Amino acid sequence: MLSDFISLFFPRYCVGCHGALVRKESIICINCQYEIPKTNSHLESPNFVENKFFGKVNLTKAMAYYKFERKGRLQRVLHQLKYSNRPEVGNLIGEWYGRELEDLELPNLYDVIVPVPLHKTKLRRRGYNQSAQFAEGLSKSLNIPIDLSLLKRTKKTATQTKKTRVERWQNVEEIFKVSKKKKLTDLRVILVDDVITTGSTIESCAIALLGAGAASVGVIAIAAAK
Ligand SMILES: [Zn+2]
Repeated sequence: MLSDFISLFFPRYCVGCHGALVRKESIICINCQYEIPKTNSHLESPNFVENKFFGKVNLTKAMAYYKFERKGRLQRVLHQLKYSNRPEVGNLIGEWYGRELEDLELPNLYDVIVPVPLHKTKLRRRGYNQSAQFAEGLSKSLNIPIDLSLLKRTKKTATQTKKTRVERWQNVEEIFKVSKKKKLTDLRVILVDDVITTGSTIESCAIALLGAGAASVGVIAIAAAK
């Protein structure tokens, strides 16, 4: 009753289509949940996400919930998550995906969830790390602990895009670093990102984690480009 009354004056809108949310819907409407295309990459191996890393870095698994498209509902959802101060969008999608991944028994395969970190300047400006929000949702429904301080981004990536793959690889330690205080030996890590396009960020993080002694690295993302 009270929530109906409140939404009469403060209508709540879906982050995917901007349509008014009806009762029991929250953040993303039922229609958008249905319409945003999923990859089902967790059901096949090798899949198109894993293929991006083939011959570059050894990952145990890689999967993404949604197919990344530059237009449409998902793009609007991701835009709200990244630029419109809607961190809860990430938590919600993480919880949903975690539930879909239940049959994979990931808690038997992994010890910790680690989001791709933001540079501290960017984190301060945005107020939150969208990948960490998604990771928290995953952590909640998968029941695997999250570690937000294990991996650090020590340099902005702006200039990185102009470099070749070999140059990027040589620069890995300048970009992602494993915290010296952490013991990583024998730890099986799920690395979490928002969108995977070329895969170079994940590649750099995974190399840093494996180089610091992680036993294995798997990857989960909100979306990946085909
Ligand atoms: Zn919608």
